[in-house]
This record gives sequence, structure tokens and C-alpha cells, in this order.
Amino acid sequence: VYAYALEPVAVMGLGRSGLAAARALLAAGARVMAWDDDPARRAAAAAEDMPVVDLTTADLTGVRAVVWSPGIAHTHPAPHPVAERARAAGAALVSDVELLLGAQPAAFVVGVTGTNGKSTTTSLIGHILHHAGQAAQVGGNLGTPALALDPVGPFGTYVLELSSYQLDLTPSLVCDVAVLLNVSPDHLERHGGMEGYIAAKRRILQGVLPPRKVCIGLDDTICRNIHAELTRTDSRDLIPFSAARAVPRGVSTKDGVLVDDIDGKGARVADLTGLRALPGEHNWQNIAAAYAACRARGVPPATIAAALKTFPGLPHRHEIVATVDGVLFVNDSKATNAEAAEKAILCHDDIYWIAGGQAKEGGIDALEPHLDRIVHAYLIGAAAEAFAAVLDRNEVPYSLCGTLEAAVDLAFQHACEDDEENPVVLLSPACASFDQFANFEARGDAFKALVADLAAEIEDTV
Ligand code: ADP
Repeated sequence: VYAYALEPVAVMGLGRSGLAAARALLAAGARVMAWDDDPARRAAAAAEDMPVVDLTTADLTGVRAVVWSPGIAHTHPAPHPVAERARAAGAALVSDVELLLGAQPAAFVVGVTGTNGKSTTTSLIGHILHHAGQAAQVGGNLGTPALALDPVGPFGTYVLELSSYQLDLTPSLVCDVAVLLNVSPDHLERHGGMEGYIAAKRRILQGVLPPRKVCIGLDDTICRNIHAELTRTDSRDLIPFSAARAVPRGVSTKDGVLVDDIDGKGARVADLTGLRALPGEHNWQNIAAAYAACRARGVPPATIAAALKTFPGLPHRHEIVATVDGVLFVNDSKATNAEAAEKAILCHDDIYWIAGGQAKEGGIDALEPHLDRIVHAYLIGAAAEAFAAVLDRNEVPYSLCGTLEAAVDLAFQHACEDDEENPVVLLSPACASFDQFANFEARGDAFKALVADLAAEIEDTV
């Protein structure tokens, strides 16, 4: 951010990443104008002595850039008025990542994007690099915002999760290792349709020239087409990967066996079944991607295989919470739609399922083929009635619990009476959380606290 020393720079959006950006800019001596439409956020910034300036009315002449919060619309479906004012004043809208890369042009960057699995893959890459003794800073769209990351030093790596929104706002992005996991329709309203969304995702590949590497998934049509195009049109180093098929000169995790054919040797590197923090076939894709990226960063296969076993997993994504009285509790609060909940449901077959919240389009119809895995469902929140109708249709027993607390209590009671070997109380709501919680993290934390209470109660009675 030294490039902005003494320059006027606006920061639009004062969430975690905006605040971190404003702090870094102020520390570098920039003249900051910070703004958020939410008065509470403005007050929090002002309490830190940040210069809060109303960007909806202020004179923006001479403002060099507006650090734009990726969550705020700036093109589709309708541009925020501040975006229009900034453009009229000739100020570029940029992400915090753009500033980070501008400040550290020589840093080695591994960039990760895709529709699903970004956070898991990014964290796994960071974990493997750390395990291999490399200096790495991990963040971006997950965890630590870009401008709150520590400098990585001359041999270190930034491992950055990049959302499609951030990619749109990072024009000078050049990744030394680019990872494109998968692309399926998502966030289309913000990108003006599927073409805009694909174009945003493709930005992860921009400027990537040898000896830089592109790790690209082959498990969906859009990525396969991009791969085919890259193979035809340029000579960059490609490492394709797939969880569904063998990949010549790439990485595959078909049937849970990690096979490295990057050098044409077809080496079997690891067995992926039984990795508790990375369960299910969807994680095989994330593992293949992380493996490809870490090989591109020079980590030996055996070191990666060892690191996979010690990955702790991510909070709220199929997070193993505890086993209480023989009942396993799993927190998958991040599963805010049916597609994500399906991934967790497929990992178990004796499920006491806590679901519901603020309904998403499509409801849980997509889960119908897997509902035979559910012993009993505990419905909470606004979507309860709608989910109940689907469960009725499939003859799955359920209880309308209202609150998470009631759901946890009843699910535990029922699961304790289960004679099967591995009963699981699974919170995988297939819904947003906003009807009852601030966000999915708060919902997951509440679940974990309830499980801790149960465990304490059981201990007291023993
Ligand atoms: P993102 O950061 O892209 O939202 P996460 O790694 O946080 O992805 O995973 C969120 C959820 O998405 C997981 O709990 C799982 O249900 C699902 N998921 C993870 N990886 C994949 C994948 N490779 N393909 C499809 N779904 C996935």
C-alpha cells in the first residue's frame, strides 16, 4: 500500500476487509476517506479515529482509488451510487487484494477460486506448505483479510482465496500458481449472467506465463472447456486434476486413491478414505487441487501425503464437534443450500438431521434421493413447514422443533436410543441462518455450545 502514501484513497464498505484496508492505508500515510451505508459500522470506524467521509456526497476529484468491499454491487444488478460517482471522478474500483499485490509485487502468490471448495482448498494448501516448513500467509476471502496478512518474506507464499467478486476488482492479479477448482452457476445476479460469472472466474488465469502454473479441475463442463482451450492456445504449465477419472500428466483422486501422474509416473501417493477432516468425494477434488498446487510449489509427494493426515479441517464445514454417549455431533452450519447439505448427508447413513432456517430457492427437493439416510429430522426456523412437506412425501419422520436448542435436545435423546453403530446428529441446515442467527458462524457456534452443555450434563450424571 506504499504506492498510496499521501494519496487520497476511499474505502467503501467497513466490514472486516474494509477496516483492515483502511488501517493499512492510514499506516502507510494515505489520506483515507472511509464510508459504509451502515451507521453502526461507521461508528466503529470513527471509534478507531478513522476519517469517516460520506462518499455519497463528498467531492471525489483526485481520489486515486476506491477500495471496494466485494459484497457491495458495483455493476449488476444495479451499481451502488458511490460506484457511479467514483467512476465519474475517474477513480478505479479495486479490491484489497489489488493493493496487497501492488505493495508486494515480488511475492509468490497461489490464488484459489471456484464455485465450491475454495476455503477448504486454500486452507489445505496453507497447511501443507506449513507442514513442509515453508513460510505462508493464508487468507483473502476467508479468514484474515488481504491487508491484515503479515509480509511473507523473500521465500514465502501468499495463499489467497479469491471470490468472483474479488477477481472482478483485481485487474493486475498475476498468480504464480492459479487454481481453478470448478465452475457451476452461482451469484449470477451480481455478474449479469453466466458469461459474466465465468469471465470473473477466468481472471484467476490472467497473466499466468511460464514458469507459472495453472491447476485446473476437469470435473465440470465449463472447466473442461477452459482446459481444452488452454491446451490448444498456450504453452503454459498446466496441471489438470479430477476426482472422477484418471488424468494423464495430472492428478487424480478417483475412488479415494491419490495418483500423481504429473511426471508421467502414475505414482499412487495416498489413500484418502478415512481422512476424518476431509470426508466425502467432494473433498477428493479439493485434495487433488491442493496436491497439484503444492507440487507446483516444490513440496515432495510424501510430505503432502503426511500433511493430509494432520489437516484439522475448517470450522462449520462438516466439523466433528464431539462424541457424547456414543453419539457423534457434526457441525455443517456452512451448508446453506441443498447442494452443500447433500455432501454432508452422503458421508453418513444413520442420521439425526437438524435442518431449516431461512429457505433458499429450490428448498430440499434435490435431497430426495438421499433421504433414506435420515432416521429422523428436527426442523427449525422459517423453512420448517416447507421442509416438512418434502419429508412427509418421502415418509421420513420429523419433529417441528422451532429452536436449535430444542432440536439438539430431542435429536440427542433419539440418537441415544439408536441401536446402530454410528448414530450422527448432523446440523446441515440447507438454509441461510438469518431468520434466527447473525450468520452461519453464529449458528454453528450455538450448536457447539449446546453440544458442550450436553457433554457437561452427561459427565455430571455419571
Ligand atoms: P467455498 O469456500 O467455495 O464456499 P468451502 O470449502 O467453504 O467452499 O466448502 C463449503 C461447503 O461446500 C462444504 O461444506 C461442502 O458442503 C461443499 N463443498 C466443499 N468442497 C466442494 C467441492 N469441491 N465440490 C462441491 N461442493 C463442495
